[in-house]
Amino acid sequence: MKLENKTVVITGGARGIGAATAEKFLTEGANVVLVDLKQEEVDQTADSFSAYEGKVLGVEADVTKKDSAQKGIEFAVKHFGTVDVLVNNAGITADAQLLKMEEDQWDNVINVNLKGVFLMTQAVAAQMKEQNSGVILNASSVVGLYGNFGQTNYAATKFGMNGMTKTWAKELGRYNIRVNSVAPGFILTPMTEKMPEKVLNTMKEKSVLNDLGRPEDIANAYAFLASDEARFITGTVLSVDGGVVI
Ligand code: NAP
Repeated sequence: MKLENKTVVITGGARGIGAATAEKFLTEGANVVLVDLKQEEVDQTADSFSAYEGKVLGVEADVTKKDSAQKGIEFAVKHFGTVDVLVNNAGITADAQLLKMEEDQWDNVINVNLKGVFLMTQAVAAQMKEQNSGVILNASSVVGLYGNFGQTNYAATKFGMNGMTKTWAKELGRYNIRVNSVAPGFILTPMTEKMPEKVLNTMKEKSVLNDLGRPEDIANAYAFLASDEARFITGTVLSVDGGVVI
């Protein structure tokens, strides 16, 4: 097992890619803390992994609030003693073309996708510095590499995410902390399932493999980057997109 007894905190862990990542890390031997907006939902997801009792816990926390972000990290340390991996997976969309985008659509997406990642990483970096080890993984997107129609706010956050990844890799390497992003293509999750069929087909055609991704495709990339097999990889953005951006 690649991640035996490592402790991972996964934001937005109640569903979608976050929940699939939790499952993958559990199969690799990790302890998992799911952080999400509603206690009921993290509990439900944690309960669904019944084979891993005692290895998976959920805590309600809003990544956009400093105290709440801190609480997520402290919860993991209290229960499992360390935080070895943080997956900054929580993210939202609020799409509109530039001329129609409302100020609150801009603010909400920036708050969760950028400020939330900043606050969670600040909280975990202090802990990892003390441990002199850690891995931070950020959920970017193909949209953070080539933009997207109707996603001014989301594109800004995902390009920003790649910038933060490279900056933190440079700042935190001296404490033996690695920082990387994963840039998924179009993955079938509750976030994308609400898109019209026509849009999903267009997404599929953009992949040179003519396929949409699955949450497990992203979970596998996170597990690799979190493991010692990736010990010399930091500051990178790994595309997992079926060849959408080549
Ligand atoms: P998802 O199914 O919508 O799940 C996101 C989770 O994050 C939800 O459980 C959501 O809770 C939670 N969340 C939202 N705001 C939060 C906050 N302030 N604090 C804590 N948790 C919060 O998303 P997904 O499709 O799995 O995507 C996961 C990540 O991958 C995102 O960062 C996304 O941008 C990125 N990504 C996804 C795709 C894709 O095709 N799916 C492609 C590229 C990148 P609620 O449900 O209660 O709001």
